Amino acid sequence: MTILSFAAALALLSASGSALHDDPLTRPIPGNADWEKPQAPLKLHGDTYFVGTGGLSMVLIDSSDGLILIDGALPQTVAMTEASIRQLGFRVEDIRYILNTEAHYDHSGGLAALARDSGAEVITSPIGAAALRMGQADAHDPQASSVAAHPPVANARGIDDGESVRLGSAAVTAVFTPGHTPGSVSWTWKSCEGDACVNVVFASSLNAVASGGFTYRAHPDVTATLRASIDRMEALPCDLLISVHPDNSGGDVKIAALQAGATPNPFLDPSACRAYAERARGRLQARLDREAS
Ligand SMILES: [Zn+2]
Repeated sequence: MTILSFAAALALLSASGSALHDDPLTRPIPGNADWEKPQAPLKLHGDTYFVGTGGLSMVLIDSSDGLILIDGALPQTVAMTEASIRQLGFRVEDIRYILNTEAHYDHSGGLAALARDSGAEVITSPIGAAALRMGQADAHDPQASSVAAHPPVANARGIDDGESVRLGSAAVTAVFTPGHTPGSVSWTWKSCEGDACVNVVFASSLNAVASGGFTYRAHPDVTATLRASIDRMEALPCDLLISVHPDNSGGDVKIAALQAGATPNPFLDPSACRAYAERARGRLQARLDREAS
């Protein structure tokens, strides 16, 4: 399917969906228009596929014994995600686990609907799982005062740092990277295409963002936590990075290039996690400098 006909099919899909009934789990949460931009799905490497939108990353892993999905994007992009999964030839009903990076609605808003439609269990850190079950950010989240609520995720379960979610040939390991939210998790796994095996990292946001008078200067514990997560990201075995917001790591440019048939695969970049960490460190320092002046 071309990008154009994919977008047209999505428009039809959402028009017919909204005309038929009001689904509380896919009711739109207003945000950034870029987050809802249609994006045709594409293979990133081996068993790993991009099924996100133009502004929000989601990845599907084909374990040969069921599917693992990472992140849920927005309630209003669920139809788009499910269409992407089907377009790749997979079944939404075959998703066994949905992993989450953070309990902010732009990455968790679609989880409840996706879990309902697939029957999958949702897995993240214990702090993140508690926030998902409430449908709102953790009380200690730097953005707790402003971030929108989202449909609660009843079947969200917490796992330990370093624990792996195993399914068929896939083993996806939780790397806790708190700071942007107290429960943030990055995910890593080995993906093979023939003999070419690479370390994939799906990175949580490491952006220092706050609201409601929260300052990082007044919370040295949160600042230290975020710094440690940035250091951890920098040191991860990492050949292929997907950041939750693609444009935070040049992912938007890489997706366009990959779609245009670029070789070698623009996502294969062993310096990508280091660059992502460096960018986050710069943002944190800029914020601390602003808070001081
Ligand atoms: Zn966030």
